[in-house]
This record gives sequence, structure tokens and C-alpha cells, in this order.
Amino acid sequence: MADKLRIPAARCPACGHVTRDFERVDKRCERMLDGARCRGINSGTHSYDDWQACPVCDATGRREHARCGQCKGDGWIYVRSP
Ligand SMILES: [Zn+2]
Ligand SMILES: [Zn+2]
Repeated sequence: MADKLRIPAARCPACGHVTRDFERVDKRCERMLDGARCRGINSGTHSYDDWQACPVCDATGRREHARCGQCKGDGWIYVRSP
């Protein structure tokens, strides 16, 4: 059984990319989109009100030996409405 992932530290509001690295909060998103770096700024979302453990993979981010498709491997699903 895989370990559960920690709750994400930040999420990019532009592309939905999440990071568990607190150093990246309020920094520019590192994701590459069509060859250009995403313009979003990671916003800190380290609250259990913001996230729900993925019901498919039980917050592990993995199913069998593949990445979970429901949470895109993040293990957590962003539930706070904008
Ligand atoms: Zn982004
Ligand atoms: Zn999942």
C-alpha cells in the first residue's frame, strides 16, 4: 500500500498545478504550457478546507502502478470555490 501524500502547499490558479513545496508559495508556477512557462502565481492553500483526499486513490496519487487519473497524481482534489 502506497503512503498517503501530504496535503499540497500551494496551487496555481491559472493551470491548477499543485506543489507540496512551501518554498514555491507566492512564486511563479513552474509548469510549462505549449513551450512557455505558466504565468500563474502559486497561491498558498495549506488548509484542509481547501482539499479533499482523492476518493479513488485515497490520497496516494497512485492506482495500481499508474498515476491516478482522478487527481492527476496529486492525491488531493481542490474543493474550495473561487
Ligand atoms: Zn500554472
Ligand atoms: Zn487520486
